[in-house]
Amino acid sequence: MKTVNDFNFDNKKALIRVDFNVPLNEELQVTDTTRIEAAKPTILKVLEDGGSAILMSHLGRPKGVEDQFSLNHIVKTVSDIIGVQVKFVPNCIGDEAEKAAAELKNGGVLLLENLRFHPEEKAGDKDFAEKLSKLGDIYINDAFGTAHRAHASTTIIAQFFPENKCFGLLLAKEIESLNAVLSNSQKPVTAIIGGAKVSSKIDVIKNIMDKVDNIIIGGGMAYTFIKVKGGNIGDSICEDDKLDVAQDILNLAKKKNVRIHLPIDVIAADSFSPDAKTQICDIYHIPDGWQGLDAGPKTNIGFSFIIAESKTILWNGPIGVFEMEKFAKGTIEIGNAIADATADGAFSLVGGGDSVAAVKQFGLADKVSYVSTGGGAMLEMLEGKTLPGIEAILN
Ligand code: AMP
Repeated sequence: MKTVNDFNFDNKKALIRVDFNVPLNEELQVTDTTRIEAAKPTILKVLEDGGSAILMSHLGRPKGVEDQFSLNHIVKTVSDIIGVQVKFVPNCIGDEAEKAAAELKNGGVLLLENLRFHPEEKAGDKDFAEKLSKLGDIYINDAFGTAHRAHASTTIIAQFFPENKCFGLLLAKEIESLNAVLSNSQKPVTAIIGGAKVSSKIDVIKNIMDKVDNIIIGGGMAYTFIKVKGGNIGDSICEDDKLDVAQDILNLAKKKNVRIHLPIDVIAADSFSPDAKTQICDIYHIPDGWQGLDAGPKTNIGFSFIIAESKTILWNGPIGVFEMEKFAKGTIEIGNAIADATADGAFSLVGGGDSVAAVKQFGLADKVSYVSTGGGAMLEMLEGKTLPGIEAILN
């Protein structure tokens, strides 16, 4: 796996696909700089070698050229974070972009305008990719968030740099962290899979079955399993068309000697609302008119015990409706248990979707081994798929 550490960028122009798809407020200011900070080590490696960096990214989902999606709005933030006055060019291809790239001096950073102002980006257009490729000597992909898309700048472009292409430090770390869980893992390995629906995680659960010892199933998806096991789940969320899938997963786990852990008690609410009335119920006996919105106290103790015994931990998806304070405890306790296990030497990876938001919200991001930056990309890797953006660098 070639990374930026295998290259010397002295007097070279590095064309870096970053993921600067950051949230902006109504004043078009960046409200979360995580993704820009995450790209910093790769950019600094290029600059410290004596090269220059040409950054390309998408922002939002523009339909053609729309000012609110211009990367011009983030130039100041990127400059502050990188510590270099970043130049901006209002197109990502064409004469103006080529001139700005050619004039860029060693130590300089140039940010190109939003790639998705051109529909050719998402279409994976080869001519467009070739035009982009003219801007740099070495292509670096450091955008994990879009590595599962065969877009021009993430995948197609790599063919124009047969020898001079590599992973950025962020993307390399994402791949290594996932390998640490799925390939070279220390046992026992525990996966905690939560979130609203089992349908969105079926392929993940099936793929990890050969790699883990324990699967903790929490959140809304647990009720489909409890129902197929004969429980009364009241008005809890349930996918009735996925009962057979839940049964298949339980059978497969038995066959493969994987222990599936489901909640035993829940915080049930009389409505899906932050000020609902609540009661603690056995998960197999939830009264009609009540719905389980968080794990109960006995479940939290049980799940925490399994996590404490684990040497490798993967967490994907919240354990309850953590966005509402009343139903956040299960998710917080899982997060704390993972943080404690990590402090005791376990490797922990949090990735994909709302569990990342949860660890950030509850101040746990620094207490786990690695927090993934890519939701969809992480899920596809967990499903065992080969991501086109990764494949394009490896080939
Ligand atoms: P996902 O995007 O599938 O990872 O699902 C995340 C969402 O699942 C979060 O917004 C949670 O509020 C929601 N969730 C977790 N537990 C439950 C539950 N028991 N009932 C309904 N929604 C839930």
